[in-house]
Formats: sequence, structure tokens, C-alpha cells
Amino acid sequence: MNLLYNSTRNAEEKVTASEAVLKGLAGDGGLFVPEYIPKLDVTMDELKGMSYQDTAYAVMKQFLTDYTEEELKYCINSAYDEKFDTEVIAPLVKVGDTYHLELFHGATIAFKDMALSILPYLLTTAAKKNNVTKEIVILTATSGDTGKAALAGFADVPGTKIIVFYPKGGVSRIQELQMVTQKGENTSVVAIHGNFDNAQSGVKEIFEDKELKEELEKAGYQFSSANSINIGRLVPQVVYYVYAYAKLLENEEIVPGEEINVTVPTGNFGNILAAYYAKQMGVPIGKLICASNENKVLFDFFQTGVYDRNREFILTSSPSMDILISSNLERLIYTVAGQNPEINARLMAQLKDRGVYEITPEMREKLEDFVGGFATEEDCRETIRRTYERTGYVMDTHTAVAASVCAQYKKDSGDDRKCLVASTASPYKFIHSVMTAIDEKYGSADELALVDELSRISQTDIPDAIKEIRSADIRHHHECDAQCMKEKVKEILGV
Ligand SMILES: *Cc1c(COP(=O)(O)O)cnc(C)c1O
Repeated sequence: MNLLYNSTRNAEEKVTASEAVLKGLAGDGGLFVPEYIPKLDVTMDELKGMSYQDTAYAVMKQFLTDYTEEELKYCINSAYDEKFDTEVIAPLVKVGDTYHLELFHGATIAFKDMALSILPYLLTTAAKKNNVTKEIVILTATSGDTGKAALAGFADVPGTKIIVFYPKGGVSRIQELQMVTQKGENTSVVAIHGNFDNAQSGVKEIFEDKELKEELEKAGYQFSSANSINIGRLVPQVVYYVYAYAKLLENEEIVPGEEINVTVPTGNFGNILAAYYAKQMGVPIGKLICASNENKVLFDFFQTGVYDRNREFILTSSPSMDILISSNLERLIYTVAGQNPEINARLMAQLKDRGVYEITPEMREKLEDFVGGFATEEDCRETIRRTYERTGYVMDTHTAVAASVCAQYKKDSGDDRKCLVASTASPYKFIHSVMTAIDEKYGSADELALVDELSRISQTDIPDAIKEIRSADIRHHHECDAQCMKEKVKEILGV
């Protein structure tokens, strides 16, 4: 029996996993969700000795049931290979009294590589399975990391094209360079005059545009999404938490059955939702601690039950978390609404029309697994500096938001369960903020000039991703207003 998926806004439309991967977003604007969260069918004892790839298979086969064993293993082995600079793919590092799961050892040195290196294979396999002959066009809005990771994942993958939109001035210099130097005949990069939410809303509108869809079909194209709303992005992330827990057990840091807390630096709510799914699959996770930066919409939501995006958009040193509409939260809302698509659709309509909605007290009760926290820019700097001084470990700004929130939660709650922090980016990627947090004297230095210094003080090798952009040519020059994204897409595709 296949596990089927339906839209969070309409339970009637049911599709297989491969169809959900292909479509990205449901026809009604909702997100695909599995009918239920499957349980793991292997024991923690069995998982203990497994490689990342084998763990990925054990987890993903439970969700993507219409992929054959051969297909899924092909996807996993094509994704998690030498593109990663360590055989273990996601090293678990003890830093002080917390455990950092380093998810930044892929091609673009941020955690989105973890899911985006497998999505192109899940997608092209899904296309074959469903007899799709059209060329797949990936449209993606990015606050910095997704874009490059998606470009790297899809570059020169036959049968695909990819167009990435990013907010001009809203990403770091290194992130921008990484994107505009991207190779691949099928890649395009566009700078938007606006913020990430404008770019994301623009992409959503293009997906919902029926006329455009027909026009493109005639020209032999079909849209899909690489954003974290695609279940092909979400499911591979569940693996992190199963793998990390098994490694903690293997290293005898915890005893069988011992609950751990998990802190996730959150933006679009994809990664932490995956942790929630891992818990439901049977991983002994206590609290899911949702860490926000100063754009603390989610903290306020967990505090009050009111989601209110009507507020100032703050540019922080953790730009990949500068988000006011956390798209994946819709899947959680649907779940706590008792999988009721009408209730969810009503709330999402309120979010669209007025920018705010409130959930009921009954729904709030079902959020008890979650704790919200946030870190200010100063908290973040202090966490980076103090951790470096005490342990020699240098973490990036996003991870620092989580580490700060994790420590704060421990102190405030007295909850002394061990804590796993999802470490989402290499410090090399946000080097200016990281180095000035450690010492203000680096403030005036050029980002690229700091690379050798970071390597020296952290005693880590300079990642290939950084070495490359020092010399690569700029290949992408597109720029447009947020209102003109659709025209830009047509121009690029020549329709
Ligand atoms: C995208 C991103 C996040 C936020 O992850 P979500 O799944 O969107 O919540 C955190 N840190 C980094 C470095 C990212 O790139």
C-alpha cells in the first residue's frame, strides 16, 4: 500500500509521493502532506552502525513508497557522494555541553545542500515514473543559501532548467558571488529589487498562474519548485535527526531511549518540521526548540497563538532566517487543526489577506512539543565569541542563533536533557559577521581577505566552495523589479 499525499487545503486531491515531488505545490496553493507520518521499521540498535546513506534509505523508503528500492538507492548514492568533503556526510561534534550536527559539508557549505543534492534525482526519477516528457523548469526564491544549493544541484541535469531569484542587497557578498558565478547551461540567476518575501510571493504567483502554465506547456515546459515546500526537500531532512540520535547512541553519549532536545535555527520552518516528523517516526526527541533571529514571528506565534507578519522586516547577520512568512508552518497548522483542510485554508486566506491569523486554544495545546526562542544580534555575536574563547570552535551566525536560544532555554526552564543543535552553515560562508563577532578589529577587512585568517584561528581547512569563488567569472547579470518576475521568466525561457 502506497503512502499518499494530499493538499493542506483540500483532502480530496490525493497523489503518490513521486507525483507530489513533481508538482511541488498542490493545485489549490496548498502544500502536500502525507496522510500519516510513518514509523521507522528498523530499531535504533540497527541504526547505530549505519552510514548516512543507509540511514537515509531506512527513513526515506517509509515516506516515498512508490519509489522502488533501486530508484531510491540510486537517488541517495548520487546525492551523498564526493560532493561532500567528509565521508560521514554530517559530522556530529561536541561543543561544550551541546552537540552540533554539522550539515554544511556539501557543495555550497550550507545545510540546504543536504536536501538539494538529492532533489534533482528524486525529481527526474519521478518524471520518468510518471511519463513526463516536458522539460522541468525549477523556479526558486532564495534568501541566499537555497539558491546556490539548488543551482549546484540542478546544474546540467538533463531535462531540467533552473531560474533563481534573490533579493538584491539581501544576501551576503559571498552568497551573491556564489550564485552569479554558477556554471551550467541550464542555470539562470535574477536579482530582485525587493526582499525575500517579495521574491517568494512572486514565485508563488507564477505557480498559481493558470494562463502562464498553459503557455509554457505549449512550449514544452512544466514548472516545479525546489523551495522547501516540496516534500522532496522535506523528507530527506528527517534523516538528520534519526542519524544524529543513532550516532549519539553509538558514541555512548546517551543511553537507549533517552530523550534529547533539538534546537533548530529556523526560517521557512522546513528543518524543524523534519525534526517533528522524526519524533513522530519514533526518535526519542523531547522538545523541538524553534530558534528565530530578530524577525521573531515564530517566537511570538508559539508564545501567543497569533501569527502576525505585519511588522518591520529586519536585515540581520543570519539572512537565511530573515523571513516573515514561514511557508512550511502551514503543514504544522494543518496537523494541529486535526488534519482539517477547511480550517487550515481559512487561516492561510487570513494570512494572505490581512497578514495575521490566530489559532484556537485546542490547536495551541497540540503544539506542546515546541518551544519558541529568539536571539538578538548581540546574543548571536556573544555566543560566537564566547564559544570560540572557551572551546576554539567557530560557528556561523545562523547556528549561533540556535546555540544562544538553546543555552537560554536550558537556563530558563531547568530542562537538562542533552541538546542537539542543527548547525546549518559553515562559518566561512558568513565570514564577515563571524570574524567581527570574535574581534571587532576585523570590521574593516574585505570578506575574501578574512578567509585565511579564519582558517588559521579555527584550525580548519578552507572549503573548496570558497576557494572557487576567489577566481570564478561572473556569468549572470539579470535584474528586475519584484512585479516583473513573470516577464523575466518568459524572457529567459523564450516564450
Ligand atoms: C535556510 C536556512 C535556515 C532556515 O532553515 P528553514 O528550514 O528554512 O527553517 C537556517 N540556516 C541556514 C544557514 C539556512 O540556509
